[in-house]
Amino acid sequence: MAPGGDETAPVAEQLPGNQQASESPEPSAEVLKEKSMEELVQAYHDLPLMDAHNHNAAGGKYRSMIPKWDESGVDRIVLFGAVSEPAAEATDETAWEAYQNNPDRFIPFTSGINLLEQAGLDKLRKNLERGYFGLGEIAAASQYSPALAQVEWKTEHPMDGILPEIYALCAEYQAPVLLHIDPLNGTPVSKLQEALAAYPDTTFILAHANVFNSPGNLEAWLEAYPNLYADFFAGFTVFNPESANVLEDFIPVIRKFPDRIVLSTDSGFGLSSEELAIEAMYRLIDKLDDSELAERIAYSNMNGLIERQPATRTQLEKIRGLGGEDDSGLDLATLSKREAGEWLIRNGKEG
Ligand SMILES: [Zn+2]
Repeated sequence: MAPGGDETAPVAEQLPGNQQASESPEPSAEVLKEKSMEELVQAYHDLPLMDAHNHNAAGGKYRSMIPKWDESGVDRIVLFGAVSEPAAEATDETAWEAYQNNPDRFIPFTSGINLLEQAGLDKLRKNLERGYFGLGEIAAASQYSPALAQVEWKTEHPMDGILPEIYALCAEYQAPVLLHIDPLNGTPVSKLQEALAAYPDTTFILAHANVFNSPGNLEAWLEAYPNLYADFFAGFTVFNPESANVLEDFIPVIRKFPDRIVLSTDSGFGLSSEELAIEAMYRLIDKLDDSELAERIAYSNMNGLIERQPATRTQLEKIRGLGGEDDSGLDLATLSKREAGEWLIRNGKEG
């Protein structure tokens, strides 16, 4: 506890160092319970934070977000843009560029994959070989989403089109697949369950798993399928009036499955700003009041899915072509996809 800590000032207690206790003269504990965004960012300054679902490759918006991520302590971003439509081919390239310019910050996913034709499978293999770290967001089912219900390359349900082959390919590359599914009931869910059971070596991340979904459903699915991860879009639960739940409702599920929850902003979809979605991630972290659990969901769960992916044949060929075998710091037998990608970026010829 900070020296001079004052029991009427729980906010100050959470801050690193001893912040000015002058902010809390006489107010009730009630008022102080909600920290400001500034206080949250300061309180969790040392916590690594990754946004596991971000669309800011679209329109190159990631560029203008960089200062905001800096300010708000968002360290890394799983980046893509458009979803399951031809426009996503261009945003995949934008995500790749962002990664080439800043591999410490950006993790490119590919979503410009036609889920209905065999060509999509070849494209996915090519992109995973190149160095993309996952597939998504994809529209594996969408009836109601204003953004996705009409996209050209969506499937009707999570076992439709070439999705079964796609799951097998993702398992081969140990790359996760981030699926948008709406509604989260009926056929889309029974087909998701079928996919989870049929492809136990594939990691499925259910996009915004708390959106129009109950904690009970989420708990049951996580319980039944060890290859399922949940992307938690806290911004919806905290700030969207359509949410039937509050954060507290989901906390028991998060505690029960500490290794399979990841946090995201979904670029603030449906909210007045993306910053609100970042704030909501912090609000959840703050409510957990468990630094180890916070670190897992904020960072290491998603990071683990990235780090475990091995370097691809294409990456290794490029590295050899650039004389990488002579680099004593490089063990080509155990190289990860992330390490290979970074080496290729450092040594110039990637693009
Ligand atoms: Zn999304």
